[in-house]
Amino acid sequence: MEAGFEARLGRERERMVDEQLARRGITDARVLEAMRRIPRHRFVEEGLAHGAYEDHPLPIGEGQTISQPYIVALMTSLLELTGQEKVLEVGTGSGYQTAVLGALARRVCSIERLPRLAERARATLESLGVGNVWIRVGNGALGWPDEAPFDRILVAAGGPAVPPPLVDQLAEGGRMVLPVGTAEDQILTVIERAGGEIRSRQAGDCKFVKLVGKYAWES
Ligand code: SAH
Repeated sequence: MEAGFEARLGRERERMVDEQLARRGITDARVLEAMRRIPRHRFVEEGLAHGAYEDHPLPIGEGQTISQPYIVALMTSLLELTGQEKVLEVGTGSGYQTAVLGALARRVCSIERLPRLAERARATLESLGVGNVWIRVGNGALGWPDEAPFDRILVAAGGPAVPPPLVDQLAEGGRMVLPVGTAEDQILTVIERAGGEIRSRQAGDCKFVKLVGKYAWES
């Protein structure tokens, strides 16, 4: 990629953080700093790089999308990461959200259903020197039992209900953020496990691609 183009994308990234995130109420300084630094354009095809900092999702192949920057920032903020956490991510997609989580947590285990996307995300993260994320192919609604429990869980695809295995794999004091609803629109849901109790609250409307498989949509 030509140097002038890279520099322009850098300026667009700054503007994305100021106008789409900070101005809309994202206040977690660590989230803003990570998204100022991570080159989102590297997670889309080169032909789409010019649009990587715009205020919407973009196609990443296989009918899937890289989430809108604001949604990545909002979900990450809701996790309230300090840097110590072991995080499970469901729906690696391009790996962009994975990179943001990797910058803010101790370790990230990410599961993607589609092998081609998992492979590409792995390669992108490796090329950027991200060393604390592990990507696996499978149904993320089943969680990752060998690595459980998780301090935080982020699900980047929408299902009809909260998958029970994910609640089981949430650590005491842990928190999960996921979209729950119909195939067309969902409610961003925050689940917390505290003192042996499970609490749930709603954090606004959202629209994600489908979470597919057992404990989710059939197709
Ligand atoms: N956060 C990602 C967006 C991912 S889109 C990014 O920023 O790029 C949602 C992803 O979830 C898609 O790649 C889709 O293939 C994947 N997915 C859908 N159902 C899944 C499941 N049951 N387990 C794991 N991944 C799933």
